[in-house]
Order: sequence, then structure tokens, then C-alpha cells
Amino acid sequence: MALLNIVKMGDNTLRKICRPVGSGKLTERTLRLLDDMRETLIDADGCGLAAPQVGVLRRIVLVLNEKEEILELIDPVIVDSEGEQEEIEGCLSVPGKWAYTRRPMKVTVEATNRNGERFTVTGEGLTARAFCHEIDHLDGKLFIDEAVHILTDEEVKKYIG
Ligand code: ZN
Repeated sequence: MALLNIVKMGDNTLRKICRPVGSGKLTERTLRLLDDMRETLIDADGCGLAAPQVGVLRRIVLVLNEKEEILELIDPVIVDSEGEQEEIEGCLSVPGKWAYTRRPMKVTVEATNRNGERFTVTGEGLTARAFCHEIDHLDGKLFIDEAVHILTDEEVKKYIG
């Protein structure tokens, strides 16, 4: 396994639409990418990581759920959402910036696992936000694009420390 470099805002990779991995058995290369992304996410102490953040334009995201498990979602699609929340969000690719974003409170995602099987998973609260945030990355969107409010330096000091 290897730690991958996380690209930062300003890099064009973060603005591209990612291609699907597709059905069938995953290649060795994709499996290695999943392992490397997992290691990179743990090292960076984040809640989620999308393949474009490590320079790979494929529809793959990892999300840390409330049980501290890392979910691997390949070709993820949001199939259901309900409710609404406004919370502070940040991004490993946008260091030093935080913003209030409006997201659904509960989100169900359909995705492929590393065995090539489709499955669905539902997340609430922080996990729901992470699903939306990471899947947005696959379409070149960043959390600050449609943020409700970007925190000022004062607010960052107060809320983030
Ligand atoms: Zn992000």
C-alpha cells in the first residue's frame, strides 16, 4: 500500500466529471487504488475521500461512517434522500476553509463493492453529508460552490480551533 498525494483546490482534476468503473470483476489496479485510498484517508484523518482527490478520474469514494468503518463505494448513486441539515463541512482538498452547507439528513446510496456486487447503504447526519460531499467530487463539485455560508477567520477560530 502507499500514501497518495491529495490534490488541492486550483488543480483542474477536482473540476472534472469522473468515469464509471463499470460492472464486472475489479482490476488489480482498482483494488490497489481502494487500498491506497483507504491508507491515505486514515493518514489524513478525514471523513471521506474521492478518487479525483488523489488524481484518478474514476467514480470511487470512501466514506467513514458513524461506526468508524470505511465504506468503499464504486459507481455510487444517491437513490433516496430525506430531511435537511445545515452543518459545518470541510474538505481535505480545501485546507483551511470551512462552510455551512445544506444537505439531506438521511441519504441512501446504491454502489458496487470490491467484489463487484451492487448494494445499498443508508447514512444519517454526518454520514449522509459525507455521502453527498464525496459523490459531488465525482461530478467536479466542491462543498464551497453552493455553501450557505463560508466561515470567516473569526468563526474558524471559534468553531474549529
Ligand atoms: Zn472533499
